[in-house]
Amino acid sequence: MGVFYKWGAGRDPGHPEIVDAHGSTLVTADGDEIVDAAAGAAVVNLGHSLEGVADAMAEQAERVGYVSTSHFSTPAVESVGGKLAAMTPGSLNAAFLVNSGSEAIEAAIKLARDYHVARGEPTREAVVGRWASYHGATLGALAASGNTARRTTYEPSLRDWPKIGPAYPYRWEYEGSPEEQAVAAARELERLVRRRGPETVAAFVAEPVGGSSIPATRPHPAYYREIRRICSEYGLLFVADEVMVGFGRTGESFACEGLGVTPDLLALGKGLSAGYAPISATMVADGVAETLEDHDHPFQHGHTYSGNPISAAVADRVLDRYTADLFAAVRRRGRRLETTLEPLARSRIVGEIRRVGLQIGIEFVADRETKAPFDPDADVADRVYDAALENGVYTYPGGGSVDGQAGDHLMLAPPLTVDDDAIEAIGEAVVSAVNRVADEEG
Ligand code: PLP
Repeated sequence: MGVFYKWGAGRDPGHPEIVDAHGSTLVTADGDEIVDAAAGAAVVNLGHSLEGVADAMAEQAERVGYVSTSHFSTPAVESVGGKLAAMTPGSLNAAFLVNSGSEAIEAAIKLARDYHVARGEPTREAVVGRWASYHGATLGALAASGNTARRTTYEPSLRDWPKIGPAYPYRWEYEGSPEEQAVAAARELERLVRRRGPETVAAFVAEPVGGSSIPATRPHPAYYREIRRICSEYGLLFVADEVMVGFGRTGESFACEGLGVTPDLLALGKGLSAGYAPISATMVADGVAETLEDHDHPFQHGHTYSGNPISAAVADRVLDRYTADLFAAVRRRGRRLETTLEPLARSRIVGEIRRVGLQIGIEFVADRETKAPFDPDADVADRVYDAALENGVYTYPGGGSVDGQAGDHLMLAPPLTVDDDAIEAIGEAVVSAVNRVADEEG
């Protein structure tokens, strides 16, 4: 046994070795080229082999490879903090740097707790999440997540934090206009908080636009207007998880911005270094930061590699690439990719094709009328993934009909810099893969 990937997956065909990568292309040890239509789960936002990154790493390693952030800072860390404060919406001006999306969520959970303790409300502890969501693999982040498949085995180790339904307009059963439905869905939070007692609830966590929960779900803006009102009225902190959808994926710098909502804490990851180094951040709003600063008990949290100078130097270089021009191109490329999928509008296994910026979610259903999901054992999304890979395109499958929360889906999220030829190749491969599985399903 060499490297441990995943055991028990049963159908896992193995992990092809990637020996080279450039732009939106992966090259295997056998010399095969694969178009990267997932950017490694929406990480490699700026494409593979990005110029300047290796130099930034080498320069930083030769200068200062490591110091403990318990006692020191570095120009790279200070620069990243300043750039994040300038880029992120509202008064999210303090950056707490960690190493992964899960850690950014863990920090947010503990910051919310510290904030309430500092304000003299120590009974506030619960973090409300949503079913079908994913906020990370660590036990705190998983307790706040509602992805039952990822939770099952670990349930006994998870805090029993309450959940509301997902922001999933395709499967909402509320009455009225899209706006009325959005308000009704958000008010699930209000009912839950009242029932449980606001004095027990510390925070609400959600992906503003679905990424790893249900890809490319974006509710009517009234949903987050209402969520913001409820959080403020009942004293909860609103934690936005933009680990996957932040940094331009939605065609704006951050999904919150497009939805007109400002969180109290914002978790960022993946795109922060565009995949070139492990680094993530929890952005803290001024009001929260000031309360924590006034408190005589310091925030007891940190990891050995928090604020690692080499990762920070990479992020510092990467952040300069997130420009208004890139975000405009993201919107254009997203529309183009969506156009290539038009033949699927009539596919009998496709329930909905959703797009936000350059992220597309294709939801598969056994019955388009009733929206009945496939039996999870049919592995529909995984079979489409396999067929697309055979066609030379790497996509990201997910979901499985978990308690009816989310049907099988396929996510497309190529690098934000993807070119037109790659977009056409992705469309062709995915359409053919879906048609193949639809034929197999009869
Ligand atoms: N939050 C979201 C929305 C994610 O998509 C992910 C990872 O996919 C995480 C948190 C966890 O991030 P990481 O895998 O870097 O720990």
